[in-house]
Amino acid sequence: MGIEQNLRNFLSTIPDTVQLVAVSKTKPKEDIQLAYDAGQRVFGENKVQELIAKAPQLTNDIEWHFIGHMQTNKVKFIAPFVKMIHAVDSFKLLKEINKQATKNDRIIDCLLQFHIAEETTKFGLSLKEAEDLLNNNELSGFNNLRIAGIMGMATYTDNTHQIRAEFRKLAEYMYVLKKGFFENESYFKEISMGMSGDYKIAIEEGSTMIRIGTKIFGGRNY
Ligand SMILES: *Cc1c(COP(=O)(O)O)cnc(C)c1O
Repeated sequence: MGIEQNLRNFLSTIPDTVQLVAVSKTKPKEDIQLAYDAGQRVFGENKVQELIAKAPQLTNDIEWHFIGHMQTNKVKFIAPFVKMIHAVDSFKLLKEINKQATKNDRIIDCLLQFHIAEETTKFGLSLKEAEDLLNNNELSGFNNLRIAGIMGMATYTDNTHQIRAEFRKLAEYMYVLKKGFFENESYFKEISMGMSGDYKIAIEEGSTMIRIGTKIFGGRNY
C-alpha cells in the first residue's frame, strides 16, 4: 500500500478529536509530500539537522513538530519555524526557547515531557520536578512560549497492562497540573502520547495527540 492510502486508512480508525503528528524521521521529502497531498499538515521530526535540511525543501504550509530530545544549543536552528516542541524537560530549555522565539518574534508551543516508562534511558520530568519548574517566578515573563500540555512515552513492551498504567499516570499528571497551574488557560490541553505500537491504548487513556511513523510511512532503515 502507498503512503496516501496508509494515511487515509489510519485516519479513518482514529477519532477526529485526536490530532495526528505524522512522524517522518529518516523518510525522504517525497514521502512527506505524498502524505501532504493526502491532506496531512502536521509532521514530526526528532533530529534538528534532519528537520532543518528537510523543512526548506517543502511547502511552508506544513506545521513542524519537534518530538526528539532537544539540546539547548540547537533551539536557535528551529526557532524560526517550528510550531511545537514536544519534549521539554528543563527550565533552562524553556528559557532558551523563549529567548529564541522572542528573537524571531514568534510564539512556540511547548509540551513538558514526563518520564513514565520503566526504562531509565528515556528522558523526562517527575511530577515534582514539573511542579518546581512551573513554580519558577521567571516563567510568567516568558511571553514567547506557551506550555500547551504534556508528553510521554510508555515502556517498549508487549505488556499492555503496563502500557495502559503508564499512559493513565500521564493523564493523571495532566489533571493535576491543569488544576494546580492552568485552570484558566484553555491552551493547556494536549496530552501527546501514543506511537504506532500503542496508540490505541493511548487514545483510550485520553491522548489528544498521537505521534505515528511506521504505520504511515512504513519501517525505517537506520
Ligand atoms: C519515532 C518516534 C515516534 C513514532 O514511532 P513509530 O513507532 O514509528 O510510530 C513517536 N514519538 C517519538 C518521540 C519518536 O521518536
